Amino acid sequence: MPDPLRRGPDGVQAKITPSLACNNDCRFCYNRLDKREARALSEARVLELVDEAAASGAEALNFIGGEVTILPYFERALARASGRFQAVSINTNGRRFADEHFARRCAALGLTAVDVSLHGSTGAVHDLVSRTPGAWAETTAGLRNLAAIASEDPRLAVSVTTLVLDWNLGDLAATGALVASLGVRAWRLKYAFGVADPTRPEVPAEYLVPFERALPALRRAVEANARALNIQVHDVPTCVLGDLYEFSTVHERHRVARYDEGGLDAVAPVLGRWGETSARCAPCAARDRCGRALPGYVYHLGDGALLPLDEAAFDALRVRAREARGALESRCGAHAAPHEPHALQTLFDALDAHARAGDWTAVREEALRAEALCPGHPEAVRMRRRAEVKLLEAIAERLERHGDRARARRTLALVRLHYGDLVRGSGS
Ligand code: SF4
Repeated sequence: MPDPLRRGPDGVQAKITPSLACNNDCRFCYNRLDKREARALSEARVLELVDEAAASGAEALNFIGGEVTILPYFERALARASGRFQAVSINTNGRRFADEHFARRCAALGLTAVDVSLHGSTGAVHDLVSRTPGAWAETTAGLRNLAAIASEDPRLAVSVTTLVLDWNLGDLAATGALVASLGVRAWRLKYAFGVADPTRPEVPAEYLVPFERALPALRRAVEANARALNIQVHDVPTCVLGDLYEFSTVHERHRVARYDEGGLDAVAPVLGRWGETSARCAPCAARDRCGRALPGYVYHLGDGALLPLDEAAFDALRVRAREARGALESRCGAHAAPHEPHALQTLFDALDAHARAGDWTAVREEALRAEALCPGHPEAVRMRRRAEVKLLEAIAERLERHGDRARARRTLALVRLHYGDLVRGSGS
């Protein structure tokens, strides 16, 4: 299954950090101290770096901060990147997207993926974490706008990242439910990052939760939302995840090329980017398929929770994990029937009629309605994605007819990237 959370194709994703300035003040932010020291790049330098990244052949570009949407030249940076990468993504607190016009302008400028940080199901939790009163209201309004745009234009992918913190453990399941209700379908649960630097004792770590305490909350959040959301758990070791392993992000394959003011700094794989954070991992059979404990976690909380696996134990874990994920996801079809059988059947009848007539816009709309009734319904998801392939192929055909071959090729590359299973499987 293609992974809607993946921020780039299986190649190199160029990553540019124009500035660490931010309009939130998150308690866990590992950039907190660097913010005071780091100098923001000039607009001219950021645009040059976009050119360098494009010239290097990177398939994807990511802008990360700080908060990139508050940069006065943000839209000009998007325009510079437009059409030169298969995917252009940002990580953001999402507040500026509360302005619908801004959100639509960014999508029109070629932004293809937006990952929004949301740390609670209510303002009480999220604003406590972000130390910014009113942030939750703006972030959720931004998500609503982005989800609405994505429902009209399949070229935009929207996901949410929630940090797993001591302050929001009891709220994780409810946060997932909120994400789904906002119309977003991809959710990343990311373990909090602690700073592993004895020279910086002032960096707080009180939000770091021992794995033993976090796991029950993670399990509740995944079990409650697996039907409605594509969930990925980030930076939690395989031996800790156990039968939640199938939700781990270790399957990411792309490599990241980081750019700083001087240009290309380093290219590194995403998986294993922290190297060996604990000597306990050395004999483990899962070490190449493991999100690992973050260096800051091991520094502050130790590595006692890590339990190296031998081949047999890892094989057994994988089998259990596949079954567990299958069981969670398969509940959805059975679950739909008792609730809204007639409404759902009516939608599928209409959807089939539209498909026979070749009206793929209408197919997509009916499929989205079916997904709203029964989140994650496999047939609704399959038909929506099939309609999206048809719509994108029609766009590519129009571009080709008008002589815009480059954009036609890029649109088809996008289809292969996000819908490779359908293109190969159905010959669409
Ligand atoms: S022991 Fe280390 S490599 Fe093995 S699963 Fe645990 S964290 Fe991963």
